Amino acid sequence: MVLAGVKKLAKVSVRGVVQGVGFRPFVYRLAHEHNLMGWVRNTSGNVEIEVEGDKETLENFLSDLKAKTPPMARIEKIETTFHSPKGYVKFQIWESLSQEGKYQLVSPDIATCEDCQKEILSPTDRRFHYPFTNCTNCGPRFTIIEDIPYDRPKTTMHKFQMCPDCQQEYEDPLDRRFHAQPNACPKCGPRLEIVDGDSNPIKSDDAIKTASELLKAGKILALRGLGGFQLVCDATNEEAINLLRSRKRRPSKPLAIMMVTLKEIEKHCLVSAEERKLLQSLECPIVLLKWKRSSSNISPAVAPNLRYLGVMLPYTPLHHLLLKETGLPLVMTSGNLSEEPIAKDNDEALVRLGGIADYFLRHNRDIFARYDDSVYMVEGIPQAIRRARGYAPYPIFLPFRAKQILACGAELKNTFCLTKDAHAFLSQHIGDMENEETLEHFENTIELYKKLFRIEPEIMAYDMHPEYLATKYALQVGPEQDLSLIPVQHHHAHIVSCLVENGVEEPVIGVAFDGTGYGTDGTIWGGEFLVADWRSFQRVGHLEYVPLPGGAAAIKKPYRMTLSYLYTLLGEDFALEGLPISKLDSTELEVIKQQLKRGINSLPTSSAGRLFDAVSALLGVREEIDYEAQAAIELEMLTPNEVDKPKLKAYPFSIAKHQGMRVVRLTELFSAIVQDMKNQTSIPIISLKFHNTVAQIIARMCKLIDEDTGLTKVALSGGVFQNRLLLKLVTSALQKEGFSVITHHLVPCNDGGISLGQAVVAHFASI
Ligand SMILES: [Zn+2]
Ligand SMILES: [Zn+2]
Ligand SMILES: [Zn+2]
Repeated sequence: MVLAGVKKLAKVSVRGVVQGVGFRPFVYRLAHEHNLMGWVRNTSGNVEIEVEGDKETLENFLSDLKAKTPPMARIEKIETTFHSPKGYVKFQIWESLSQEGKYQLVSPDIATCEDCQKEILSPTDRRFHYPFTNCTNCGPRFTIIEDIPYDRPKTTMHKFQMCPDCQQEYEDPLDRRFHAQPNACPKCGPRLEIVDGDSNPIKSDDAIKTASELLKAGKILALRGLGGFQLVCDATNEEAINLLRSRKRRPSKPLAIMMVTLKEIEKHCLVSAEERKLLQSLECPIVLLKWKRSSSNISPAVAPNLRYLGVMLPYTPLHHLLLKETGLPLVMTSGNLSEEPIAKDNDEALVRLGGIADYFLRHNRDIFARYDDSVYMVEGIPQAIRRARGYAPYPIFLPFRAKQILACGAELKNTFCLTKDAHAFLSQHIGDMENEETLEHFENTIELYKKLFRIEPEIMAYDMHPEYLATKYALQVGPEQDLSLIPVQHHHAHIVSCLVENGVEEPVIGVAFDGTGYGTDGTIWGGEFLVADWRSFQRVGHLEYVPLPGGAAAIKKPYRMTLSYLYTLLGEDFALEGLPISKLDSTELEVIKQQLKRGINSLPTSSAGRLFDAVSALLGVREEIDYEAQAAIELEMLTPNEVDKPKLKAYPFSIAKHQGMRVVRLTELFSAIVQDMKNQTSIPIISLKFHNTVAQIIARMCKLIDEDTGLTKVALSGGVFQNRLLLKLVTSALQKEGFSVITHHLVPCNDGGISLGQAVVAHFASI
């Protein structure tokens, strides 16, 4: 027993995001408050502390250490041992210790803190209107780090020499900018400039004011943000938006909007308490909010046919100043052409965005890592749709110690995942792996993560789809680097990513509903029922197969799927008269009919995404798409706002069992929808009934699987569950049957979450 008053030495090791976030000054202040002697230092792997004092004071210190951490710090683990005192007479911050092979978690970039916001708006402050203001509680981190340990020479700030005032802040442990590596001011830091498309500077005393005038005049600006350029225009100006759309080759995919304050957001959108929290969080993502279309002056061209708006608050001083100056909600979308990666360098932007932007609002603080805005929705709980700024490269914590694995992810919305210890470093959103630029971004980012986290993978996991660029990369680079290669089935990876982020180890019923995933039988899966855990899976059911006429063409033109279902299920003599689809070009309809009949370029598919497409085009909602899942999204959007649950009806369907496999038969469903259309039932009601039918299908299938297996936990994954109405209906139908339902929150349910599942499956396949 230790007597009060007897001095002890506590050696403390803190792991997590504890460097570059004001942790040492926090410890310094805390030690002074508690009158404790000793030191604190950064090492390559942790923060080390030695403090001396009586046991009770030490314990108070330790509890404050956990409870009062600075906003950007995230503690993973604190270990403390007690020893005999060494007789320290003061408390100091020691020099950093670098250790071979050790690594640190790296902080994501964080939105401007309140203190910095006040400074840039205060006319007497030396940082008044300075767009690169930051401190240890906010600002760029991941996007400027070239290597660890995180010190200014290893960031893109190395070219700026601090002025005496900044240097003083940097060296003062009691200052908010103590060791703030991107610390800068108007005297010594990065500068803003505005240039035209030929890189000619626009003469101006105040680049933000000039930019604001140009925006108000309907011009399109490329703004160099935190992780790359953004394309900006007035969100209330339909003409400007349409111009942006045509130049960017993005006809109707929704555009994100930035608004100056929460109050402004609430004028245009309904915001729940949970959504408010997310909007104002340090991560500051885009949140999909219910749009009050009738009372909002945001142009409908921002999100045609949709009921949600993607909205975010300003997250850098530059954004704050620009939004204040214009007094307008601004479209703020990734600076790229179509699906290429976001442009980050000034010269690169001139070339790649020259055809889109009229002017460039840019600066000379270089961006090392490309970093898109994150997107979240709140459906019960916050759920990631796109995980990037503010989140990556903070890891997902694994409930086991993993081998060093590189999981290459899927094709669309690609992310990769590198594992080491109990960390799964899921990359930021890389993009659709459909062009050389994105592949290059993928390869560079893999190298960056390997370097930052000192990872040398021994295993590579990849999707089974032979045409995915990420798969081709694995099959080429794996053997070159002498890595073992482990293929992971797409839907197994979906379900495991959901399980692992929820810490669920036991087998569950996995419902994986998405657009496309390569099956073990060489067909295109996507409406799958699995019995799965981290190690293995068994496919126990699926939606029935229909042909995918023309492969990619069937995805771009949902009416091809409508024909596939109608002719396959209702017979090749089925008459289209009276249906919207009959108005399409009759020659093409005939060609598709023949293609289906002869099975030319028509792989069988059980895809749920294609089922939604088919119904959407059957109802005449959307016959051709120009962004992923557009037909399904618009089908969801036209359902009635309020769902009257007791009156909710469903269409008939049946479930057949063949050699242990349950197959959902959809003939009755299609014939009933056609009947409803003939009876002039309203399209929103048909859409609602269809959504409810899919929920009933899932609930009934799970019930049958439960009877076979006794499993009562259901994991939902796959991009189809971004459909909020469906997610709600499925969850409540399953809960009514007594199932417990697991969904995603940390990683996207779409293919952006796949790499996490791949890594976990590969780990267990290799032990
Ligand atoms: Zn700050
Ligand atoms: Zn300065
Ligand atoms: Zn998928």
